[in-house]
Amino acid sequence: MINSITPRIEINLAKISHNIEKLIILYHSKGIEMTGVVKGVCGQIEIAKVYVEMGIKSIGDSKISSIQKMREANIEAEFILLRIPGLSEIDAVIMHADISLNTELEVIKSLNDSAKTQNKIHKIILMIEMGDLREGILPDDIDDIVKDVLALSNIKIVGIGSNFACFGGVKPTEDKMNHLTSIAQKIQKINPTISLTRISGGNSANYNWFVNTENTGEVNNLRVGESILLGRETLSRMPIPGLYTDAFTFVAEVIESKIKPSVPYGEIAQNTLGITPEFKDRGIMRRAILGVGFQDVLISGLTPLLDVVILGSSSDHTVVDAKGTNLRVGDEIAFSVDYGAMLSIMTSCNISKKYINVI
Ligand SMILES: *Cc1c(COP(=O)(O)O)cnc(C)c1O
Repeated sequence: MINSITPRIEINLAKISHNIEKLIILYHSKGIEMTGVVKGVCGQIEIAKVYVEMGIKSIGDSKISSIQKMREANIEAEFILLRIPGLSEIDAVIMHADISLNTELEVIKSLNDSAKTQNKIHKIILMIEMGDLREGILPDDIDDIVKDVLALSNIKIVGIGSNFACFGGVKPTEDKMNHLTSIAQKIQKINPTISLTRISGGNSANYNWFVNTENTGEVNNLRVGESILLGRETLSRMPIPGLYTDAFTFVAEVIESKIKPSVPYGEIAQNTLGITPEFKDRGIMRRAILGVGFQDVLISGLTPLLDVVILGSSSDHTVVDAKGTNLRVGDEIAFSVDYGAMLSIMTSCNISKKYINVI
């Protein structure tokens, strides 16, 4: 039956609410506050509203444009810019973000200049490099940077942070977290005038550390996105007990369904992606074409909820082996999504969004 626009993403806000509620209780049990991260859904207003309704007071996004969008929608929260700012976006950061994560003195000085002009005090969290080798100040350099930042009139250091499992796949272990705590204590000792109220240990990858540790040390904040949205920790993508992993369902529609050979015929050269594909001969099969392609969604992040196999895709078409399903034109196929698929869907202008409010 054709009853709804495709391709579409069905977003179950009740399941997201449930996940937030459970995670807040869990992390509070050892004194950790969650910054709710919405970058995986492009700062979608409907979802940010749910975060705030469920009690999240601090919202993080990697794009200043998303933060601006949420502000303009009057979402009442503290906004943290998660991706360290570039020199070209300083004024917007001061205007829209309450806090930004930072590692470069030159950028922080520029934030200070803009904050002066805009008559604001801008808060920063200094990110420490702890092995994952993405953003971060090397621990040996932190004292000098803190000293230089303290000389800036309109910048206030509110904390330090670390990030794991994003670039290098490095785990936030007990050792790493203890190291972060000791860095915080040292900064505090050398600079009694500053108050490091936020020690932000990481992201959804910190779940296993959190449940297994007896002592979270000074770590009192985690910036959590994927666990809220998809109900998983991110070191091995295990579901977190009691959370929904299916708040997002992607739906595509069959636009052609025919019995055809399994191997392309004719002289073979490159396809759209510039590769020369190879296919195993599996005789003739029912092949269904879905009206969605890699322009719309990261196809590799989709798992069909029906017993069909994705054979490949071009920018606007995806070909599936219909196997025994006898798919017809107009039939819909639902897929579960991973983080990459969710991200691509939520930033795609060609995918409609359908919100569901009941579990
Ligand atoms: C993306 C991001 C997060 C959130 O990560 P999740 O895996 O979605 O929990 C936290 N901190 C920073 C700096 C990020 O870039």
